[in-house]
Amino acid sequence: MRYAILADIHGNLDAFQSVLQDIDGRGGVDELWCLGDIVGYGPEPSACLALLRQYPHICVAGNHDWAAVGKIDIADFNPDAAAACKWTGHQLNADDVEYLESLPAKVVRGEFTIAHGSPRDPLYEYIFSVVSAASNFQNFGTMHCLVGHTHVPAVFMDSEGLCLKSPLLSILQLGGERLIVNPGSVGQPRDGNPRASYAVYDEAERVIYSYRISYDIAAVQDKMRRCGLPEFLSLRLSEGL
Ligand code: ZN
Repeated sequence: MRYAILADIHGNLDAFQSVLQDIDGRGGVDELWCLGDIVGYGPEPSACLALLRQYPHICVAGNHDWAAVGKIDIADFNPDAAAACKWTGHQLNADDVEYLESLPAKVVRGEFTIAHGSPRDPLYEYIFSVVSAASNFQNFGTMHCLVGHTHVPAVFMDSEGLCLKSPLLSILQLGGERLIVNPGSVGQPRDGNPRASYAVYDEAERVIYSYRISYDIAAVQDKMRRCGLPEFLSLRLSEGL
């Protein structure tokens, strides 16, 4: 079986469609694993939800998903994120709201625990550093964990109690070490590379492949301006920041 690992789509339908097209071109996958934040920031939240739901998939809740439906509050959102979140809430239909409200905070699939931010604090915690990663390895019972939220692809390895961080390279062979893997963001990458980021897990090979995909960023920026979304949120797409 092969699984696509998609995080932080953030209402960016163009990026999402380009990623799905790329997956098709590689022979497809059996299921999409969505690591949360399907909505928020981008101009087409409802269309992204509809597209995701056409596929066999599992999905966990991101902070933007639950904030958009009022399940968590936006007190800790910066002003641009809060404005986009309120706008997003108005774009959702009853079906979208019901779907987002029903998302679990964590899911276990085979040898992976799947959470948006971290296994310890799925909605809020960012795993950027080896310090936060190291203290999270005790918070999941599976061999590995998949997270998003930072929008930065990365791999954290628990090596005999020492936590090591490395970039997510194009091929990651799973071995005997426990890993926390972040596939990067489909809809709003923040590692200086504006191309959509995603991964595919090949269960038979025990390999995670990671990919960067070009899409029409200018078209998305144009849609965002027409929706009246904050200018900074448009600009950051072409910077990858
Ligand atoms: Zn996000």
